[in-house]
Amino acid sequence: KIAICWFRRDLRLADNPALCAAHEAKLPVLPLYIDDQGFDDQPKAGGASNVWLHHALSALDGSMDGRLALFKGSAQSVFETLADQFDIAAVHWNRMYEPAAIARDKALKSWLTERDIEVRSHNASLLFEPWTIEKKDGGPYKVFTPFYKKGCLNADPPRKPIAAPADLNLCSVQLENAVKLDDLKLLPDRDWGAKIAKGWDISEAGARAMWDTFVDEGLFNYKQGRDFPAEPYVSRLSPYLHFGQISPHQLWAALDHYDQDRNVEHYRSELGWREFSAYLLYHFPSLPQKNFQPQFEGFRWTPNETFLKRWQRGQTGVPIVDAGMRELWRTGYMHNRVRMIVASYLTKNLRQDWRDGMAWFEDCLFDADLASNGASWQWVAGTGADAAPYFRVFNPALQGQKFDAEGDYIRAHVPELRDVPTRYLFAPWEAPDDERKKYGLDGSKYPEPMVNLKESRKAALAAYEKHKDER
Ligand code: FAD
Repeated sequence: KIAICWFRRDLRLADNPALCAAHEAKLPVLPLYIDDQGFDDQPKAGGASNVWLHHALSALDGSMDGRLALFKGSAQSVFETLADQFDIAAVHWNRMYEPAAIARDKALKSWLTERDIEVRSHNASLLFEPWTIEKKDGGPYKVFTPFYKKGCLNADPPRKPIAAPADLNLCSVQLENAVKLDDLKLLPDRDWGAKIAKGWDISEAGARAMWDTFVDEGLFNYKQGRDFPAEPYVSRLSPYLHFGQISPHQLWAALDHYDQDRNVEHYRSELGWREFSAYLLYHFPSLPQKNFQPQFEGFRWTPNETFLKRWQRGQTGVPIVDAGMRELWRTGYMHNRVRMIVASYLTKNLRQDWRDGMAWFEDCLFDADLASNGASWQWVAGTGADAAPYFRVFNPALQGQKFDAEGDYIRAHVPELRDVPTRYLFAPWEAPDDERKKYGLDGSKYPEPMVNLKESRKAALAAYEKHKDER
């Protein structure tokens, strides 16, 4: 007789309720991971996500003496094989909240229950269950502040983190159809996968170390400092949170050790945005596909392959945008301030559909997350819940000047601009002709901009007004 702990987006031993519950059954525990991308309507993850997943699984397996059982295929077929081989007393998993995962889990739960196998799901990746937070009229919130105040700050506090079980009794039987990590083929053929993983310790211990560094170097200047992409004031924990190598409960509780410092409060509120995104996706499952505000249906985006390609490659000729897009490609991460700038530039100045930008982020971000990515793209595009209004168009030259005043971030990611004096760095097209020539800003080293910022902003606003009139 065994108990199964099915790992999914909770690739850690500490604060893992499913693992603890399986352990408490006092039976041998079979730790299981199923790569079911593309099976049973499960979405395929992007390239960077799969690189992260590969290393996260390797680390998790290492922390369990190589006992993590890996399978590829539909979850139900894996459980069928396991049920043939074992007397399964119970299956434990931590809940996921994406529409496809919910549908899969529901079907699997009834399939297992019909076979007298107990199924217990647990909470591990959200502080507050999305169905517990509702407005007075019983409907879901669509605005962040009341959601956060009533649903998170003034609600019962989230549960406290739990320790990793000591002396795990792990199952060590040879398994039919189990595969090796490399058989999952999560790493791309190109060496891009190895390059982006450099500089990240993709493990549970790595997540904790990242947190410790952030507490030492970033937390107490977070509120102000979080807007400056060249500064070390953000935690870079998003991929670890996405894959569950650290839990929001652990972070929330760790923050209790510090006073109600404004920085601490602000960090909590960012975790609140993560909750809000998951909440929105839970209540509005079409969030990543459909304009949240229906009045945007029929809005005329202006699809342009060249614009999109040059944006993806960081060749737009707008330095802060190119720096962000190259940071993304080289590191699997992009600073939040710059995510907003590049997304505004794509959806407003270039008038490309937010879903095209979202898809590229999905493929390149280590932290790509259906809820946060969908909600954030819609926020910037102006189509989302509680979104920045459409007419709010970031000026990327001014943003660069304000948030990267010395140009450190731009120079770090766009080597062609390393020697360009700071005064030309944010809007190189405004430099005198001889200087543009001297520094290769005339297209000889660095591209000229694809569109004029002022004119494209005007055109975006006009398109929006026209759309409103036509409705
Ligand atoms: P910190 O500033 O240290 O914040 C701590 C944690 O709070 C983050 O790790 C994250 O989990 C959460 N958080 C912070 N800001 C947000 C936010 N605006 N929305 C939701 N959660 C937030 N975040 C993702 O995790 N996955 C995505 O796919 C994603 N796509 C985005 C796309 C766009 C266009 C934009 C503008 C933002 C996107 N974000 C996404 C939100 C945000 O940019 C990242 O969460 C943040 O930059 C991660 O860096 P960090 O861990 O250093 O953040």
